[in-house]
Amino acid sequence: MKDDFQLQLLKKALLEDDSLFWKKRELQTFKQIKQELTVYGNIILKGSQIVIPSKLQKNIIRLAHKGHQGLVKTKQLVRTKVWFPNINKMVEEVVKSCTACQAVTPYNQRNPIQTYPTSTHPLECLDVDYAGPFPDGKYYFIMVDDFSKFPFVKKVPSTNFKQLKPVLDETFALFGLPKELKSDNGPPFNGYELKEYLSSLNIKHHLITPRWPEANGRTERFVKTFKKALLCATINSNNPDAEIQEFLINYRSTPHSTTNCPPYQIMFNREINNFLPTLKNKTFHEYNPQTDIDNRRKQNERANRKRRTFEHRLQLGQKVLCKQQKKNSLTPLFDPDPYTITRITGSQIEARRREKVIVRNSSFFKPHHSAQSPRPEYHPSTSLAPSRSSQSEQTRAPFPTTPPRSTAPATAPLRQDNTEDKVNSPPNQRVETPTGRRPQRDRKPPSKLRDYLVEL
Ligand SMILES: [Zn+2]
Repeated sequence: MKDDFQLQLLKKALLEDDSLFWKKRELQTFKQIKQELTVYGNIILKGSQIVIPSKLQKNIIRLAHKGHQGLVKTKQLVRTKVWFPNINKMVEEVVKSCTACQAVTPYNQRNPIQTYPTSTHPLECLDVDYAGPFPDGKYYFIMVDDFSKFPFVKKVPSTNFKQLKPVLDETFALFGLPKELKSDNGPPFNGYELKEYLSSLNIKHHLITPRWPEANGRTERFVKTFKKALLCATINSNNPDAEIQEFLINYRSTPHSTTNCPPYQIMFNREINNFLPTLKNKTFHEYNPQTDIDNRRKQNERANRKRRTFEHRLQLGQKVLCKQQKKNSLTPLFDPDPYTITRITGSQIEARRREKVIVRNSSFFKPHHSAQSPRPEYHPSTSLAPSRSSQSEQTRAPFPTTPPRSTAPATAPLRQDNTEDKVNSPPNQRVETPTGRRPQRDRKPPSKLRDYLVEL
């Protein structure tokens, strides 16, 4: 406390109780609580809490945040022993900017699902995907026609293009060439050979956002149904492949949830015989493609309401954490090493970290609140004198600089961080803080603190 101008002043004010002291700007935050303050040797107490000098405040909070308890618990812990003006705000600031905590806490931004117009006739667009690998090491290649929801399924030994080509050849020979093939851009679909093959047939290859099955929802949903059928087939039968064909007959005969019409009927414009007895031409009805669009819109709206989706508010240049795949039960939800957003196309976000560039749906990202947002930088006031003398120490901490700064992250964390990053940081990662104000590492906070407590 000896070198803290503000507390020295406060000590004098308390000991001498001179009203002139209490008029000083630096003591305004203490004025209302002066009845609770006592001088005890070299320190000042508020009740039984030690009043902490400004330059130790952040370190105290970091000590209380050891073990990464949440905001409320950290606040409670800090306040069991110490006090200083705006203590809650500063705890919020420190805890919210803790990268470890940010990496492990969930963030549920999901964009509303859009209803895009469907194809206008069968085989215009095929959604494709693989299911597997299954215990025998094989995969099922799955295509779902966008218009009719008619599924094609073929067992393949691997996801290699060599295995895929005959399947595509056969399907296209039977049903004609599609205009478009939609897939994710994972390894089986991002190869050069498939690209060449499709372009030689004048088929457009539509690549959807990786790891975002929603964009390929139809195939995803069918894959789920298919997997269940496969599972039952393996339990029930010693010829699962035959059972899969039976499943396909029934699936293609069943009215689809969005078209209200059996895929068979839309695909071939006639009734198909299945395992059930039928009266000829009695169950056929005209199909109106608008039904599909209307039903999908309704389904999407319901899903959006249920999942409380909202548009992302990410911005170019913003620092973000990206969700990562779990390797084990201790893998944090988010990769703690932040990325910077380099491109935004609707809900598709491209982000870079050094040489690595990733493309993900916006729901994979959460804004990263940087710990390296030095307090005084919020206010380009005279207190930002370049010198590290005790003069600047005195002017940095006192009352006027604290309240506006600390209210900012609490009320509008996201925007504040944006502007702050844009203004203060170079485009790439900051290793050190930009101004000369902060390098105070030689101070060794814990031992200093111990000294400080010893004086008790
Ligand atoms: Zn933490």
